[in-house]
Amino acid sequence: MTSKENHKNEDDEEAELKKIEIELKSILSKLVTLNERKEYLLKRKEKLEDIALLKKSEKLSSRNWDSTDFPWYGKAKEILKNVFKIDEFRPFQLPTINACMSGEDVILIMPTGGGKSLCYQLPALLGKGFTLVVSPLVSLMEDQLLALKKLGVSAAILSANSPKEESFSIQKAMVDKFSSLRLLYVTPEKLAKSKRFMAKLQKAYEMGRLFRVAIDEVHCCSHWGHDFRPDYNFLGVLKSIFNDIPIIGLTATSTTKVTIDVQKILGIQGCLVLKASFNRPNLFYEVRPKPSSQKECIDELEKLLKNRYQGKSGIVYTTSIKDTEELMMELRSRGLRLGCYHATLDAELRSKVHKKWISGEYQAVVATIAFGLGIDKPDVRFVIHHSISKSMENFYQESGRAGRDGLPADCIVFYRLADVFRLSTMVFTQQTGIENLYGMVDYSLDVSRCRRSIIASHFGEQWESTDCNKMCDHCLAPCIPRKVNIASYCRTLYKVISNAAGLDVKVTAQKLVDAWLGKGATNLRLKGVSPPAIPREQAEAIVAYLLMEGYFQEDFHFTAYSTISYIKRGPKAVEALTEGHQIMMEFPGKKIIKEDSTATPSKEISSTKSSERNSQKNVASTSLAVANVHTNPKPKSETKSQCSKVKPSDEIIVSSDEEVTPTIKKRKIVIIDDDSD
Ligand code: ADP
Ligand code: MG
Ligand code: ZN
Repeated sequence: MTSKENHKNEDDEEAELKKIEIELKSILSKLVTLNERKEYLLKRKEKLEDIALLKKSEKLSSRNWDSTDFPWYGKAKEILKNVFKIDEFRPFQLPTINACMSGEDVILIMPTGGGKSLCYQLPALLGKGFTLVVSPLVSLMEDQLLALKKLGVSAAILSANSPKEESFSIQKAMVDKFSSLRLLYVTPEKLAKSKRFMAKLQKAYEMGRLFRVAIDEVHCCSHWGHDFRPDYNFLGVLKSIFNDIPIIGLTATSTTKVTIDVQKILGIQGCLVLKASFNRPNLFYEVRPKPSSQKECIDELEKLLKNRYQGKSGIVYTTSIKDTEELMMELRSRGLRLGCYHATLDAELRSKVHKKWISGEYQAVVATIAFGLGIDKPDVRFVIHHSISKSMENFYQESGRAGRDGLPADCIVFYRLADVFRLSTMVFTQQTGIENLYGMVDYSLDVSRCRRSIIASHFGEQWESTDCNKMCDHCLAPCIPRKVNIASYCRTLYKVISNAAGLDVKVTAQKLVDAWLGKGATNLRLKGVSPPAIPREQAEAIVAYLLMEGYFQEDFHFTAYSTISYIKRGPKAVEALTEGHQIMMEFPGKKIIKEDSTATPSKEISSTKSSERNSQKNVASTSLAVANVHTNPKPKSETKSQCSKVKPSDEIIVSSDEEVTPTIKKRKIVIIDDDSD
């Protein structure tokens, strides 16, 4: 081959290579487009399927399930009276029982204490054979079993810890057509892990002895929920094996997303969904700023327990086991009678604490969220969150343990920025952990909206303001919120972060606030920039608001012993740095202030009946007092465009009821100046 030919060959190869590269590039780009299209179509498909499911459920729910014309009505009423010793059904109980007896798969969403158990216990006595009840906690099942035993209903529990003989005799009863067993409670693990049990269940089914399947706390199926349990995933198998056995799922907390997910997992797509209103009209909702020092916080709790809640029963929820123990010791040393409760306490001790609380020997239990599932004390007058909950679902459930008897009760949250990060470092690895937590922060940060309406919108309900009836701090003492442009604050805070980054330092929210206010480590403070003249509480509120709105984001780092949440710029940083961009945040505005500490309670609550009046009065005065020093922003404000130039604020003098909150009497606060341009 001549060198000329050689060259020609090389040129050809090079040309071909180029061609291939170009073609590959074009294929790759088509693949990207196709993949994007695929993603879109998959999402759209899922959405349309969800809509179809919702429509199917909706159609089912249009039937008159509340009717007394169903053939079993007479017998159901009789059992209600003679076995359960109850005269009337509560709302949603009869419709659920009717649907269940008609052979429909049902998901019942009803607030805690609404009476969900009856909805499967009563049908179990109307049918033949037994109803299988899946429940996540043995303690929950034990409570129910005890109550059923008292009523003379034959029921049993099977868990991984059941003694061998007991387990044996229960499994025998399952396939004994003469057995009187009506309700069989099992843990999801038992179903998932015991082949022997599944075999027995299949046999019982073939004999026609499996009447219904009830799944309590059914939201645990979905990892979109707040309490996902992997073993609940196995429950999908039930519908595929026992396809003609109706399933009833029960929960107190389920968003539409979770409900749809649960239906898919259980294989009951498009089933009847019955949803009771989440409004608990007798609960008073309030958020208070949590004092920064532990001592002040204990002082406030002590005062509440000794005054407003004297002789009344309640729960104080907090985050960690250590907190429960410390709080309990501190409060005990001030002469209060209370116990503490958490998951690592041994069972005997826990049950002792529970009993002392039920009997009134303990005024309150200081507890982690381990305390509560299945507790059934009607006269809980207060639930205090010493630290915010992990999610609105959790908060609703925990606070919902108050006032089950229908009489007024209070749900108070102590909010502080530092607690947000204690929780975020605990939940950030969960799929929706941060999103759920921020929902709770939004609720706590709001300065003007009705707390009840925030809860409602969270659960996809819409309530009129009359549904609150002044039973929240904001409705009781309304204010006109002041909108302030905090964009320049945001930019200064970015400077603090980049200045720290230049020193190779990451900042936590606390450090960020410190440096901004000209406190803490000197090298982190901005040179030549004077700190804003605002109280720390307000500075924290601003940082929290910017975090909720995406101007900041948390940056989690693992150390050998813990996880740390640092603050960095968020996805909206570009917008914040754009000239003229406004970030409108709401601050508490002026409200009608009661100056006279001996004044009678305000008009709107003077109509409150009975012995609760005193507690109501205190609610009113205390919340009036604290509402003004509570300088939290309103999250996700609807009308950001409605910006009005805000004048430097007036001073507001707050006075309060001597007896209840002497320490904050005549407390002065200054509302933030508008430092925007
Ligand atoms: P949930 O599971 O919805 O939280 P439960 O089933 O544990 O609620 O019921 C809460 C309490 O209400 C129980 O003490 C139960 O006996 C009681 N209860 C249920 N239905 C009725 C009713 N129709 N009338 C009065 N009390 C009821
Ligand atoms: Mg229940
Ligand atoms: Zn309200």
